[in-house]
Amino acid sequence: MTDAPLKLFNSLTRELETFTPVHPGEARVYTCGPTVYNYPHIGNMRAYVFADVLGRMLSHQGLKLTHIINITDVGHLTDDADEGEDKMEKMAAEKAQSIWDIAKHYTEAYWADVKALNIREPAKWSVATDYIDEMIEFAKGIADKHCYECETGLYFDTTTVEDYGRLARAVTEEGEGRIDTVEGKRNAADFAIWRKTPPGEKRQMEWDSPWGKGAPGWHLECSVMGEKLLGFPFDIHTGGIDHREIHHPNEIAQNQAFCGCGGLSEARNSGANIWMHNNFLVERSGKMSKSSGEFLRLQLLIDKGFHPLAYRMMCLQAHYRSELEFSWEVLEAALTRLKRMVMQAERLKDAEAQPQAEHPKFAGALAKFDEAMSDDLNTAIALTAMEDALATKKVDAGIKRAVIEYMDSVLGFGLFDLTREALRIRPKSASITEDEIEDALARRKAARAEKDFAASDAIRDELASKGVDVMDGDPLGWDWKLS
Ligand code: AMP
Ligand code: ZN
Repeated sequence: MTDAPLKLFNSLTRELETFTPVHPGEARVYTCGPTVYNYPHIGNMRAYVFADVLGRMLSHQGLKLTHIINITDVGHLTDDADEGEDKMEKMAAEKAQSIWDIAKHYTEAYWADVKALNIREPAKWSVATDYIDEMIEFAKGIADKHCYECETGLYFDTTTVEDYGRLARAVTEEGEGRIDTVEGKRNAADFAIWRKTPPGEKRQMEWDSPWGKGAPGWHLECSVMGEKLLGFPFDIHTGGIDHREIHHPNEIAQNQAFCGCGGLSEARNSGANIWMHNNFLVERSGKMSKSSGEFLRLQLLIDKGFHPLAYRMMCLQAHYRSELEFSWEVLEAALTRLKRMVMQAERLKDAEAQPQAEHPKFAGALAKFDEAMSDDLNTAIALTAMEDALATKKVDAGIKRAVIEYMDSVLGFGLFDLTREALRIRPKSASITEDEIEDALARRKAARAEKDFAASDAIRDELASKGVDVMDGDPLGWDWKLS
């Protein structure tokens, strides 16, 4: 590794900052996790691929990483600004299932995507409903000075903390104008930290509290779990860029209240030294909306025949702060790029990595890699540095393998566990199995060896009729492709 200091873009200051751990030798990171009322779409997964790369980079700085990702199984309303219905209650009612079953099903589906994308497990998946007592205690601690009660719940008065909304840069009329007013709310931006169950109603999830039966507000959970599991201030808080507008400003206001601290010109008063946000994955035709019938889940990509790590590649080809547009063409190009890397890595499969050895031929690629990753996680450039290293010829295979293993462990593809066969496009809807294809290709090879070109062509046509393109002499060695 070079000594380039790790610079990260802090959304709170809107500046690149050198990362300095709060606790020497450690890195404590909190990532806002999924609301488990539905399957995550691939845009959601971009947020966790980003947090994963951040975590890997911090580990590679030699820091002891404690990463927390929460699971929101209560409190998130259909509108981030505390309006509408509870997403979990709504889905449970629609599906006529218990909330607990809904949460379990979608948490497991999310974990499957996490695994498929090589996202490392955090130190803890903290589940919101496991922290209700702590949330009530936290709310009790700030209620007197910072909250007021009205008919629908306990509200946080956003005028009681300094610099409210600085993260969003939007304490503007426009920002507040988006938020519907609730009867009894003092300021448009005020938000519920405890929502009372309306009289005569029964929620599936409700708890007793000093403010009556009800459920916590969504923002409260992240403040509480962050404080309990990492302590204020911790190092880095991450989430998607939408959270910069409402969820995180509200979390920050609660944290300031809890710590009894001042304004946000001191980043640590927000509860974390650095706030990082990934930009969105966008898709023009609206398939990313969970309400569209066939929305863009990772499983849809897999069903269409793509290896899930092609999506990881697609994410890493862009800087996390850039908007990324999804298309099947870009996904296929990302797959091909990954396949090229795997083919080059395959040549090193028998080599034993020699991590201590150095080779001048890799100095350039290593420096480029480390500088790119230290420059606010520029994975787009780091990928080209790994390609440079893979293309380096006439070097000791053990040294080359060590260099690639190092870069790969930061980018997280697991190149040496992948094979070119595993990356083949194989749609679920195919009318022919791989064994049948391989069998037909073996018969075709035998026919060609006997110069029986009529038989060979017939086999090729038969395969084509089932959607199999035979790719003789393909430089990428695909051999065949299902279309
Ligand atoms: P949610 O389950 O809605 O709370 O979202 C989970 C995570 O995905 C949050 O960090 C969101 O900010 C993030 N997110 C939501 N939509 C997108 C998107 N289209 N692209 C990238 N991240 C997103
Ligand atoms: Zn959160």
